[in-house]
Amino acid sequence: MKLESIIGFLEEFAPPRLAEDWDNVGLLLGDRKNVVSKVMTCLTITPDVIDEAVERQVELIVAHHPMPFRPVKKITTDSLVGTMLWRMSRAGISVYSPHTAFDSAAGGINQLIAEKLQMDQVSPLQCSNDGNNQDHLNRSGLEGAGRQGMLPDAQSASTLCRRLCSLFSLPLIQFCGDLDANVSKIAIGCGSGGQFLADAVRTGCDSMITGEANFHTGLEAIACGVSLFLLSHYGSERFAVEALADILAGEFSELQVWVSQNERDPVQNILSVSDRPVD
Ligand SMILES: [Zn+2]
Repeated sequence: MKLESIIGFLEEFAPPRLAEDWDNVGLLLGDRKNVVSKVMTCLTITPDVIDEAVERQVELIVAHHPMPFRPVKKITTDSLVGTMLWRMSRAGISVYSPHTAFDSAAGGINQLIAEKLQMDQVSPLQCSNDGNNQDHLNRSGLEGAGRQGMLPDAQSASTLCRRLCSLFSLPLIQFCGDLDANVSKIAIGCGSGGQFLADAVRTGCDSMITGEANFHTGLEAIACGVSLFLLSHYGSERFAVEALADILAGEFSELQVWVSQNERDPVQNILSVSDRPVD
């Protein structure tokens, strides 16, 4: 299978025109004429993820977060990014990153979160940012940043906290607001989605689900009466690269596709009563 065929599918599934202006998406390392038989997905490329890719002779890593993200002037082992790029180049590993195009796609991460919650009347929280005259490309009406929609039943914030832990297989989540408040209209922004709070308020959402947000965003949410549910960055996105591996395997039966087994959330939760991480 030629790498360019896989790229063609990924560009249709998560169109690069949906990516934010500041982002760096698409084929970031490699040769589109290369032949690929093993593909590994991951949230983020780390030395551990590269170890697995080299050991299992992967030709393509589909990493949600771009590597490299910022422009690099040197690819040497004097820096961490240089070391990782050098190792992957020498092992013949290409890198493709869909990032914010995957966040905003019709079948992307924010849509998948809305579907996990069985939400109704789901639409983007912001309109597609691809400028004028391209609305005709947004055939589904589901392309755009973030999501908003209704839970099938109004429930208390504490009930939604427990549901989120169970749906995302998380030992805990963080919450800002009143646990007894009723929640029904939800804004969604995966990863670091604090910038969506203003959109959540503007669209009349009583709640927002994101991965991580800072202290001041938490205070602002409380002041605006928006219940804020924080799943952790990893918790809000890792499930989607697991889903992406399944989608690629379904599309290309000749490929071996899996999600990285070495990848871990870099943040561990330590309880005060124990020095062991919460499983
Ligand atoms: Zn992210």
